Amino acid sequence: MTDLSIVVPAYNEQENISVLHHRLTEALRGKSYEILFVDDGSTDKTLEVCEKLHCEDKHVKVIQFRRNFGQTAAFDAGFKRAQGKVIITIDADLQNDPHDIDLLLKKLDEGYDCVSGWRINRKDSIGKTITSLFANGFRKLLTGEKIHDSGCSLKAYRKECVENVDLYGETHRFIPTILSWKGFKVGEVKVKHYPRAFGKTKYGFSRVFRGLFDFIVIKFWMNYSTKPMYFLGPVGLVLTFFGSLIGGYLTFDKIFFGASLANRPLLLLAILLVILGVQFLIFGIILDILVKIYYENRTKTYYSIKKVLQ
Ligand code: UDP
Ligand code: MG
Repeated sequence: MTDLSIVVPAYNEQENISVLHHRLTEALRGKSYEILFVDDGSTDKTLEVCEKLHCEDKHVKVIQFRRNFGQTAAFDAGFKRAQGKVIITIDADLQNDPHDIDLLLKKLDEGYDCVSGWRINRKDSIGKTITSLFANGFRKLLTGEKIHDSGCSLKAYRKECVENVDLYGETHRFIPTILSWKGFKVGEVKVKHYPRAFGKTKYGFSRVFRGLFDFIVIKFWMNYSTKPMYFLGPVGLVLTFFGSLIGGYLTFDKIFFGASLANRPLLLLAILLVILGVQFLIFGIILDILVKIYYENRTKTYYSIKKVLQ
């Protein structure tokens, strides 16, 4: 049985793969491991390099996506095929140090289920570092989590962890959040960080918004995944109540005092509130039904794999 599975998402990283493979091999000497390169639809020679390594080194396995599905999908595909008892994720771009894997494993042995790297001395652009700082602060504030740097790819998981997360969009940044919510014990260790050696970063400013929207959905899911109606129901009821109250008052005014309603903006407000309120209630019902279907129907993936070299 393999002890460690190293999952490496790679999108146009042709210059980095061989160097990373060499460093991983050095850092993992004496251990039982496999390296899963997930080629995320690269248009350069990444796949060729991975396939060559697969022929030369029995530890290397390759998963090829049909097109670029993103880092989250690449992690998910790696997790689903990993055979190790512990799964390590690491960037292909040489920004992480494979020698830090030992630190992660030591921390796991202290009784953690997931250990996340914390890039204390981050070597990314100043813009990226600052937005990341804010995003991490926002996440910690709203979830009460203690993990400082959930965007660091260098992480270690016990197998049960990765069997228990669903990854969509760019939600790989929130795996520790999801795991803590599910009751897993999540820790962190300080790790080294280096500037990107070759190639370009795959993320621009849009990652801030994507991260925010992913977080909103995750937070909603954490609070209301089994009963969305508990959130939407009260909102719907409050809106309907105030709409009906205003509508009742206007009706009273019309019947008993003969007031004209044609020039009353309040009438519009009453109608708006009642319609919105009822909509919220209906959304709540639909979401509750969707959630039931979701929990029953759980075999599909949204990405498409072309080839797997075991
Ligand atoms: N990556 C990927 N698919 C993508 C984008 C990125 O597999 O669509 C990989 C990329 O090859 C790298 C890792 O994810 O190994 C992190 O990407 P990057 O270094 O560009 O992110 P940054 O470090 O700049 O946040
Ligand atoms: Mg990088």
